[in-house]
Amino acid sequence: MTNLLDIDIAVVGSGFAGALCALALRQRGHRVALIERGRHPRFAIGESTTPLANLLLEELADRYGLPQVRSFSKWGTWQRTTPEVACGLKRGFTFYFHDLDKRFADDADHARQLLVAASPNDEVADTHWYRPDFDLALVRQAEAAGAIYLDETRLDTVLDEGTVVRLEGARNGRPVAVAAGFVVDATGPRGCLTTILGTGAAPTRWLPPTQALYTHFENVDLWSNVAPPDGAPPYPPDAAALHHVFPGGWIWMLRFNNGITSAGAALTDGLAAILRASEGAPAWSRLLQALPSVGEQFETAQATMPFVHAPRVAFRCREVVGEKWALLPSAAGVIDPLLSTGFPLTLLGIARLLDLLEATAPGAQRQAALQAYARDTQEELDVTEQLVGALYACMSDPPLFKRFSLLYFAAASYSEAVRRLGRPHLAPGFLLNAHPRFGVELRACAALAATSPHGTPRMALVARIDRAIEPFDTAGLLDRTRRNWYPVLASDLIAGAPKLEASVEDVNRLLERCGLVRG
Ligand SMILES: Cc1cc2nc3c(=O)[nH]c(=O)nc-3n(C[C@H](O)[C@H](O)[C@H](O)COP(=O)(O)OP(=O)(O)OC[C@H]3O[C@@H](n4cnc5c(N)ncnc54)[C@H](O)[C@@H]3O)c2cc1C
Repeated sequence: MTNLLDIDIAVVGSGFAGALCALALRQRGHRVALIERGRHPRFAIGESTTPLANLLLEELADRYGLPQVRSFSKWGTWQRTTPEVACGLKRGFTFYFHDLDKRFADDADHARQLLVAASPNDEVADTHWYRPDFDLALVRQAEAAGAIYLDETRLDTVLDEGTVVRLEGARNGRPVAVAAGFVVDATGPRGCLTTILGTGAAPTRWLPPTQALYTHFENVDLWSNVAPPDGAPPYPPDAAALHHVFPGGWIWMLRFNNGITSAGAALTDGLAAILRASEGAPAWSRLLQALPSVGEQFETAQATMPFVHAPRVAFRCREVVGEKWALLPSAAGVIDPLLSTGFPLTLLGIARLLDLLEATAPGAQRQAALQAYARDTQEELDVTEQLVGALYACMSDPPLFKRFSLLYFAAASYSEAVRRLGRPHLAPGFLLNAHPRFGVELRACAALAATSPHGTPRMALVARIDRAIEPFDTAGLLDRTRRNWYPVLASDLIAGAPKLEASVEDVNRLLERCGLVRG
């Protein structure tokens, strides 16, 4: 006979997102089961954070009384509290633009680069999460907080039994049954509930079909050794999410403090076919042959695990919620690693879902709140897909690619600043998606990129992007004298105080509070 585990909320999937949900729900006194198909520690892709992601992590930690989680939101506190959990230092977003079969070369204006700092110093810097360690640490915290952790558990049945959902499956060959009032699906794309309930995938509308090829490496040389920066960049270019962009795709490189570098490529189907991406390591070698300067970085590198080939990166779901269940945004859709949008989208969703579960009881009000959650999730995935789709349309046009990236950086830095100032309503939705001016312009510009990226309309498009950025630019992004290198300057934020509907004193206090000015 199967023992029935009777709990309030089942969280399926114990990546960082599931573990965080379980932790927060335990802090509110719910009986929680965290159900995982695999076993920690395990490799997971999706490693690079952003200022907004870390701010959301901080907000979540404060709201649910999780100081251990809060320390993970900055490099400095992380290193002091949990140095045994590996991570990487991320001071900004670094882009280099390559032509295939040519060595990288640039001019004095850094026309083939974009460096956007995310922090003014290491102490308050972002991180790359080394997921085998990071996810395990969060799962251990969830267990210590009283969540019932069932790993190596395969679910195959989901039954609505009126007041509860019954989940059935097997753990190590033995039947498992869980009755829960609500189920949070944190199993990532093509995940548990979508598969078992057969709710199905939705087509992507703005992205070209892409594939990914990735692994972890040792002994990857610094890009700064291959192409030393000309002048003093705003941060060491390798202490970043480093992107090598080329026609038909791009490579990411994230360095951890344990000697491992995560690297991989997202490739449009056409280029993936030429490289025969499904072959793994030989395809990676062919790609590096076509990018000779990047190849130099990998001359002494060795992969520490087999290559992963993902034949389709993007995934969208049709159904995000049911009466007693909800998918986290990371289970509802994946767009692309470009711009590291996965974590902030997921953390926004976690905050909304936890609020909803706290504020509503089962019934009509909860159903309305779940529908609103589903709408927000889909709209934020839409706008992300539109922006990333525009970037793919511009991969052969670095100046236009950079303008679109600045649109992202304007929205992200503005959102972070207003949230830190306690005015989150000024930045509604991810990427200001629900802002009546910015959201509309972002979508319009992205649509133009997809239809007419070249020729005369291109100049008009650049001007339109700049006009969209201007009212939200609190980071000097439109200052062309910066020659594509953007440091974090207190003076930019102070000058932007009126755009933030704040006084200069408010901004100064913010800078002080967040350690954004030192010395
Ligand atoms: C190539 C690539 C690179 C990316 N890079 C970034 C990045 O740099 N920055 C960023 O912000 N985002 C990135 N993303 C997105 C990022 O990966 C996700 O947002 C993030 O991993 C979501 O975390 P999660 O905990 O929700 O899910 P996951 O990390 O996918 O964890 C899901 C967990 O659920 C378990 N599971 C799966 N199915 C079941 C099941 N049926 N039953 C029980 N358990 C199950 C899995 O074993 C796993 O432990 C990237 C995505 C891709 C595809």
